[in-house]
Amino acid sequence: MATMASILPVLTLLALSQAQHALSSSSTVCIIGSGIGGSSVAHFLRQYLPESVPPPNIRMFERNGVVGGRIATVTVAGETFEAGASILHPKNFHAVNYTKLLNLKAKTSSDSFSMGIWDGKTFIFKTLQISCKLPFIDKILSLVNSVYMFLRYGLSLLKMQNFVELTVDRFLKYYDELESRPIFETVDEMLKWADLYNLTTGSLEEELVDVGLSPLLIKELVTVITRINYGQSVHMSGLAGAVSLAGSGGGLWSIEGGNRQMVVGLVNQSDVVLHLHEEIESVSDLGDSYELNSTKGNSYTCEVAVVATPLDELNIQFIPPISIPKRKLQHTYTTFVRGLLNPTYFGLNAVTEIPKLVGTVEDPDLPFSSISVLKQHDEKEATYKIFSRQPMVDALLDNIFSVRKETIRIDWAAYPHYHPPEVFAPFILDGRHLYYVNAFENAASTMETSAVAAENIARLIGSRYFGKLIFTHQGLPASSHKEAAHVDL
Ligand SMILES: Cc1cc2nc3c(=O)[nH]c(=O)nc-3n(C[C@H](O)[C@H](O)[C@H](O)COP(=O)(O)OP(=O)(O)OC[C@H]3O[C@@H](n4cnc5c(N)ncnc54)[C@H](O)[C@@H]3O)c2cc1C
Repeated sequence: MATMASILPVLTLLALSQAQHALSSSSTVCIIGSGIGGSSVAHFLRQYLPESVPPPNIRMFERNGVVGGRIATVTVAGETFEAGASILHPKNFHAVNYTKLLNLKAKTSSDSFSMGIWDGKTFIFKTLQISCKLPFIDKILSLVNSVYMFLRYGLSLLKMQNFVELTVDRFLKYYDELESRPIFETVDEMLKWADLYNLTTGSLEEELVDVGLSPLLIKELVTVITRINYGQSVHMSGLAGAVSLAGSGGGLWSIEGGNRQMVVGLVNQSDVVLHLHEEIESVSDLGDSYELNSTKGNSYTCEVAVVATPLDELNIQFIPPISIPKRKLQHTYTTFVRGLLNPTYFGLNAVTEIPKLVGTVEDPDLPFSSISVLKQHDEKEATYKIFSRQPMVDALLDNIFSVRKETIRIDWAAYPHYHPPEVFAPFILDGRHLYYVNAFENAASTMETSAVAAENIARLIGSRYFGKLIFTHQGLPASSHKEAAHVDL
């Protein structure tokens, strides 16, 4: 029987001979999935391949009728809101650069809003709430609330902030100059290089206890945040947990009109043949190319194939079969309600006493993770967003709301159910030219981490298939990413 050691040199030779071929005639790269991951692969391939390489044809397949995947909008009573990925961190530098490149407008979210932690019986913690539109009152309120938080959680808050900043700083290595940044063949290698791997082997709770956080902060505020951002408890991995905490700090932003425009813009700019409503059901290795078959009965031949969607709940048939570690996805039920909350449900007298963001602690009897006001239309009506681990049935909603004019429910196969120690699928699924962007998702799942993983995949394709890659950006040089962000946001 052939061993891996004897197969590898053959595969390397094959890759080299394909690289020669790629330099003489145009090849086809097929991308399955049109989310931020797939669109970023197309974008970076166009950026990084030198002019000496005949530009590849890029085909992108999307089973839905629109691009964007988990970046999507929903319309409630004529107004548009983010239905999936909604916030970006100020140091999400690929997103910052996409925003510039595509002439999109960034909007920052207000730092001052009222927040309460609900345990099913009472609000165990509540920030101050005053409805006043004056900016200086807003600032004072935000200051007072910081003092409130400090009184309850003390120095642990600073320790939490340090932990998050340290993790974010390590992540920034992925924006280092191309010349000094390796191209990673595995997720493990990529995480170890940035000193992030160890955070995937233990739980967030363990990490936070190690850095000296109080049990109260972990049980309350940290839990509220992980439940909102990942629908999971502090038993999730330290890295995904840190990313979740980073997504609750200051300076968060989004794209005016919807984050999905980043994806639309990238697809439009990357000279992609887009196949909407076309689901790929099989990928067969033909030796020097792949055959992709779609549910429409069409066949496509490509020299390089990229899977830019989580494979965990899909039925794509790979011939020969591939093997990846089992991973469960966390389903997040996102329910939008236009109406008015019922204060009685929360044991309160008036709806104005209910915080704008209601977070919850871990308790199996609690039917939702969070409820937040997306927009207050007037005293009698607001649009709310609810995250829950189970569907919000009508009877339950009728308890929580006194008025309910419109309800929209989305069941997202949202992100991995993080279970440390994480085991990662390979970026290169078959040792040849079948790549998997979402192998990185059990490190953390965000728009930016998808873009970071996609950039690495584009570099892998450039070096392994085309045998050539340019090392400086045609747009912004890599080194200016960090400065760029601070100028605009
Ligand atoms: C409710 C929710 C809230 C979130 N909040 C945030 C947030 O605030 N900030 C943040 O940064 N991230 C957030 N995320 C995570 C973020 O949305 C994802 O990490 C990111 O969008 C993943 O992008 P992707 O391109 O890797 O995958 P996806 O967006 O899932 O794209 C994959 C695409 O492939 C398509 N596809 C699947 N199978 C096939 C097939 N066989 N053939 C053709 N097409 C196929 C799918 O239809 C989909 O369009 C959130 C996610 C959810 C669900």
